Amino acid sequence: MARYRCTVCNWVYDEEQEGIPFNSLPDSYTLKKTHYQKLACPRKALFF
Ligand SMILES: [Zn+2]
Repeated sequence: MARYRCTVCNWVYDEEQEGIPFNSLPDSYTLKKTHYQKLACPRKALFF
């Protein structure tokens, strides 16, 4: 399990917490649902 940091808002995507591997997220996936703030950062904004 890995963690990825959003370069837009510094939010961290934790694979273990979210239950979905980062590589399994569709390209069209946005982070709106999982962000605490109502941002809609694109999946590609996440970096290891
Ligand atoms: Zn973000």
